[in-house]
Amino acid sequence: MQLERNAFIGCDSDYENSHIVIFGAPFDSTTSYRPGTRFGSRAIRSESYGIETYSPYQDKDLTDYSVYDAGDLELCIGSSELALKQIEDTANEILSDNKIPLMLGGEHLVTLGAVKSVYRKYNDLYIIQFDAHADLRNDYLGVKNSHACVMRRCYELVGEKHIYQFGIRSGEREEFTFAQKHTIMNRFNLDRIDDCVKALKGKNVYLTIDLDVLDPSIFPGTGTPEAGGVSFTELLNAVMKLKELNIVGLDMNELSPPYDASGVSTAVACKLLREILLMML
Ligand code: MN
Ligand code: MN
Repeated sequence: MQLERNAFIGCDSDYENSHIVIFGAPFDSTTSYRPGTRFGSRAIRSESYGIETYSPYQDKDLTDYSVYDAGDLELCIGSSELALKQIEDTANEILSDNKIPLMLGGEHLVTLGAVKSVYRKYNDLYIIQFDAHADLRNDYLGVKNSHACVMRRCYELVGEKHIYQFGIRSGEREEFTFAQKHTIMNRFNLDRIDDCVKALKGKNVYLTIDLDVLDPSIFPGTGTPEAGGVSFTELLNAVMKLKELNIVGLDMNELSPPYDASGVSTAVACKLLREILLMML
């Protein structure tokens, strides 16, 4: 007997046969403005049954491949440090089985746990970040493990000019000054994605997609919406180009279902996840 499992559509294979393993990190305790991203991964799973498994963009179908969706972690909402450790341990387990972790947030801080794990395995690691926000603050109201600081913490791990940022249109002046010296920041758009792909060919890459990189007109369901974002097609086209890279871990974060009154943001996230999976397979 086969009952419908609560997995992302087309991702109901078993762990052993899957090269990509999805898991949810429902954590939003450091969210600076509007909480709710802890419900993101769950919403993506349940709403995925509203989209097709087939992609006319790539002429591929999720049902032709094996992907395992492990479900959501039970995270300690009251402690960022404990939650990050749980995420790191989970990613460690997936990586030690020579599989690729694909994490669904949650707020953007969850990326730090996964990057710590991936960095331990691949110590010359590059990060590609799609985001409206630089996330390069040294601390946010005195807290260093905050979603507003997540790329700063990642920088401290992966080092100089190892983070490629795209779509950035918000942050403190200090974050933009910091980026000039220490990261490769592309403001406002994704136009220079080809240069990035060229530079990172043959390197190990972690991909982090903060969905607020999208314009709030198509993605209103997020904690810190920021006008002037990219379109779905622009993001999709950029993601397709990453096919040439060796992506060793990835995540998608910051969907906040309580702010997604129409459900359109969740539908956008589901479609993007399908395309990302098929790009990786
Ligand atoms: Mn972010
Ligand atoms: Mn953001």
